[in-house]
Amino acid sequence: MDKMTPLKDIQLFLLDMDGTIYFENQLIPGAAEFIDCLIHQNKHYVFLTNNSSESGMNYVHKMSKLGIPCSKDNVFTSAMAMGIYLAENHPHKTIYLLGTQPLHQELKSYGVEIVPEDAQQADRVVVGFDKDLTYPKLVRACELIDGGAEFLATHPDKVCPMKNNRYIPDCGSFCEMITTATGKKPLYIGKPNRNMVDILARKHHYSNNQVGIIGDRLYTDIATGINAGSVSILVMSGETTPEILASSPVKPHYIFDSIQDIFTTIQ
Ligand SMILES: [Mg+2]
Repeated sequence: MDKMTPLKDIQLFLLDMDGTIYFENQLIPGAAEFIDCLIHQNKHYVFLTNNSSESGMNYVHKMSKLGIPCSKDNVFTSAMAMGIYLAENHPHKTIYLLGTQPLHQELKSYGVEIVPEDAQQADRVVVGFDKDLTYPKLVRACELIDGGAEFLATHPDKVCPMKNNRYIPDCGSFCEMITTATGKKPLYIGKPNRNMVDILARKHHYSNNQVGIIGDRLYTDIATGINAGSVSILVMSGETTPEILASSPVKPHYIFDSIQDIFTTIQ
């Protein structure tokens, strides 16, 4: 790797939430102290999530309830990144959406046109973390992709972690099913696509190497940092075990047990 930015020189921290800041409704020790420390050092932070099933405001409320200072500017979801992508690339194209109501609303706020569930035509199929997925919607999505519609998805995460080592199937698993059926692969807009880092670095007027991305998942969080030319910081508080890390081709720049240890290092 080229000259790596020391942790103390990072100006903008992009923080994964599940497994890094909290598990469901429980803050991970050290998370609140870490954010306080960034505020005192006049640094910026944005909570970055691939979860496209909730609105950005939902995360603002969740963080605030957990006692973490958070406004709409401190949250960036793969749903918002998808909205920006669609609005910047052929915004007149129609969308067939596999997604929740909040994703529907988020995309519409960027001015894109979403066709009804039983529509016969669409230019693009967008797959999100659709917790209301039905078989007829899957069939229609496959038919449209077979007919030439572009295949896009918010994020490749195969599962969403829950408490007590449970998980629920996520967008990446739905996409693999569609890929198996159609032979087509989606363009993923969320992590590990560098796109989310590029948008946020530009917005805050930093270069990508002044940005640090902290997360617990190698193939999304850490890969994003590497793809974007930013600093990638793995926490072992979530899904990555020493065995997973040892066998992964994705190697983080820094590794910590949890956010508590990053706090101790930068304070
Ligand atoms: Mg995570």
